[in-house]
Amino acid sequence: MPTTQTTLTGHSIIAGESVTGTGGTVNGFDPATNEVLEPAYSLIDAAQLATATAAAEEAFDSFNSLDPETHAAFLDKIADNIEAVGAELVERAMAETGLPAARLNGERGRTTGQLRLFASVVRQGDHRGVRIDPAQPDRQPMPRADIRQRKVPLGPVAVFGASNFPLAFSTAGGDTASALAAGCPVVFKAHNAHPGTSEIVGHAIAKAVRDSGLHPGVFSLIYGPGASIGQALVSDPAIKAVGFTGSRSGGTALVATAAARPDPIPVYAEMSSINPVFFFDGALKGDLDALASAYVGSVTGSSGQLCTAPGLVFVPAGETGDAFAAAVTRAMAPAAGQTMLTRGIADSLTAGVDSLGQQDGVELVARGQDGATENAPAPAVFGTDVRTFLTNNVLHEEIFGAASLMVRYTSTDDLLAAAKRLEGQLTATLHMTHEDQATVAPLLPVLERKVGRILANGWPTGVEVGHAMVHGGPFPATSDTRTTSVGTLAIERFLRPVAYQNIPDALLPAPLQQSNPWQLNRRIDGTMEGAGE
Ligand code: NAP
Repeated sequence: MPTTQTTLTGHSIIAGESVTGTGGTVNGFDPATNEVLEPAYSLIDAAQLATATAAAEEAFDSFNSLDPETHAAFLDKIADNIEAVGAELVERAMAETGLPAARLNGERGRTTGQLRLFASVVRQGDHRGVRIDPAQPDRQPMPRADIRQRKVPLGPVAVFGASNFPLAFSTAGGDTASALAAGCPVVFKAHNAHPGTSEIVGHAIAKAVRDSGLHPGVFSLIYGPGASIGQALVSDPAIKAVGFTGSRSGGTALVATAAARPDPIPVYAEMSSINPVFFFDGALKGDLDALASAYVGSVTGSSGQLCTAPGLVFVPAGETGDAFAAAVTRAMAPAAGQTMLTRGIADSLTAGVDSLGQQDGVELVARGQDGATENAPAPAVFGTDVRTFLTNNVLHEEIFGAASLMVRYTSTDDLLAAAKRLEGQLTATLHMTHEDQATVAPLLPVLERKVGRILANGWPTGVEVGHAMVHGGPFPATSDTRTTSVGTLAIERFLRPVAYQNIPDALLPAPLQQSNPWQLNRRIDGTMEGAGE
């Protein structure tokens, strides 16, 4: 495939136009060297934001009524265009984030893979949720009307990119892909930690919009401060939903803004999770060094900057648990800190680790080395007991980065009390064997109320993008526990049902017409019927 080269302009892309902001500038920053990266990115003002949201609104009707093939081909085209960008995409992302090439190449594949997965969802069409209750004119005592339901997109969506996935949770990431797949135009607020990476991907999307002959307002990429432009974006009457990945404070601020609008809108914010891992006796009869290495690998991978990193492990008190803790100390000793995404995030890890170490009843279990680059603090594991965990809120807070807390328990009651005390989480992990099942059983219903995904004998990091995945959970893992931000179910966040009663066939939207021109699976009188029936 021929590669394309993007000349970084430092400008927003508003409805296909390159726009120089008038609200000051921000530069990318290489966290490995503390060097400022060119070009400077100009930040838009309120009037320029209004141009982006007005264009998104203008684009809505034509975009949401595309036929499935044109719509799906557009998503495929974005993926093609991202692949056509040469090595510069990963090089720029490495410079802006400190993440290694292998990780970023994998993330590029995940980004294009999820765009193509959503293209297949659009082609297949089940997300349109068609239900038809045919008229029953002879029903007694009252006739039944013909009622047909389908799901429609909510309207233009504001997406805030995450710092820790500059590709897969950013400009063309899961939120953008699922909103576009639903038929919602997207106004994307770039994360200031990777402005150049965002621009390169932004051009790939804008080109796909152009080449597909779509209204240019289908996608805009804007640069601006969250506190002013980000807030104004969520308050804008044209915006009908928000996707966000980032801090608990940022996510809750956007939820409050959206709720305070005259017309409140949903915010799907993925925020904070410490992802408890439970070790049971049977599992600890295995190879402790291998288990400890896997744990340390999961804590330190991507500098611990993964929303599913295991920040909390429960280990039995007594000799076996002691032996596991000793194995963790050995495994962690040679582990070096890796460059973190920003100086601010590295400083906040250092502060979080210092604070954790100073809590009553908490002691250091294992510590690695500081990394050779800037902003690469040493990874660390601390230890405590269930009683201390139950009484100190600080021990429940996410420390974003390579830090974890090992809590020693003495009984199943201990574990149940600790699980009941947990905040909402993205994941819970069980390390167990057949002999542990009786101990695990009472824990499962508790965990089901707390988390979005329960897994056994693995590690929560590495989230599969598929049809059955749930990357969500009760607050503060997310702001809306009913859904997921990864996997095809994410499209449901941007859809709502509309019923049509006794509307003449010629006026019905294609999915509801009697001839089923898009060959959709439809639920007729409560029973699923295959395409064409
Ligand atoms: P962040 O500070 O929440 O920023 C994310 C995005 O939201 C940025 O574009 C930011 O814009 C905007 N924003 C933040 N606060 C806002 C507000 N009050 N109103 C409007 N917009 C706002 O997150 P981050 O910079 O990516 O990382 C900081 C912390 O977030 C980390 O230390 C970690 O705790 C957490 N985090 C969690 C996850 C996860 O998956 N759970 C992922 C990444 C980060 P500006 O930068 O322009 O303000």
